[in-house]
Amino acid sequence: MERILEVKDLHVSFHTYAGEVQAVRGVNFHVNKGEAVAIVGESGCGKSVTSQTIMKLIPMPPGEIKKGQILFQGDDLVKKSNKEMESIRGKDIGMIFQDPMTSLNPTMTIGNQIMEGLIKHQNMSKAAAKTRAVELLEIVGIPQPDRRVNQYPHEFSGGMRQRAMIAISLACSPKLLIADEPTTALDVTIQAQILDLMKDLQKKMGTSIILITHDLGVVAEMCDRVVVMYAGKVIEEGTVDEIFYNPQHPYTKGLLRSVPRLDLDRDEPLTPIFGTPPDLLRPPVGCGFTARCENAMRVCQEIDPELNDVNGPSHRAACWLQHPLAQGRS
Ligand code: SF4
Repeated sequence: MERILEVKDLHVSFHTYAGEVQAVRGVNFHVNKGEAVAIVGESGCGKSVTSQTIMKLIPMPPGEIKKGQILFQGDDLVKKSNKEMESIRGKDIGMIFQDPMTSLNPTMTIGNQIMEGLIKHQNMSKAAAKTRAVELLEIVGIPQPDRRVNQYPHEFSGGMRQRAMIAISLACSPKLLIADEPTTALDVTIQAQILDLMKDLQKKMGTSIILITHDLGVVAEMCDRVVVMYAGKVIEEGTVDEIFYNPQHPYTKGLLRSVPRLDLDRDEPLTPIFGTPPDLLRPPVGCGFTARCENAMRVCQEIDPELNDVNGPSHRAACWLQHPLAQGRS
């Protein structure tokens, strides 16, 4: 399968008064063409920093890409200048942010914000861009798009603003769409509509999607593969079925035990993962989950486990229990 994005050994830090926060510590994952990949994990696990680094949107300084490659269609984005990234953002890679109100420009009409990319990246005339803006608003389900195109963000409801944001990010038919918690701020009905819309666009336009979320229900609904992050690292990855029905890492198991599952006939009560993630100012030497893991062993404190294949090459987990030499490994 053709890979549209490949992130290799990515390390991102933030230099603060307290010291260096190692937010992303050697992340590897890929996205195939037309595929939807979810990145899941608790707040502070590095998922949003990873996605913003792909777009080169982290403030540098205090942020710094210390090491690694972000290969987009084979081209390393880490080496691109700001000017070069400007022509990639919006055109080849689109982004939907969590909070549309802080991401939309309150001083510009929704129409002008959609038209901006069309005029800049696709050399459209103003009139043609406006016609396309109306079409895009219609595609994302905004009623009376020819009237709404002239309105400002404050005249849109929360759900409509999120749809407008999707229209902006899709204006130039990006090959990759990064959606960072796109439905968190919305009520469930609007949430379902937005997810349907994204699935539809993925099918029609062949867009690849990276979905950043902590909502496992949303993942099951629309993704092909899942990357689980913890303490700035990928600790498990696999297809949606592999992760949901056969999780291998104790953290992934804990995540799944802490949410209601309508697909499973089980009576067990929901169990939270006790404790908190490690401080990335002073990341642990060994496995980052040691302090919270009921299976922790001495080796876990001393050496960080690598990602190992489990049940085939699409499913990998970074846990000593999954090491090829571990006794009783299934
Ligand atoms: Fe638990 Fe050790 Fe596996 Fe980490 S490596 S998840 S501490 S068993």
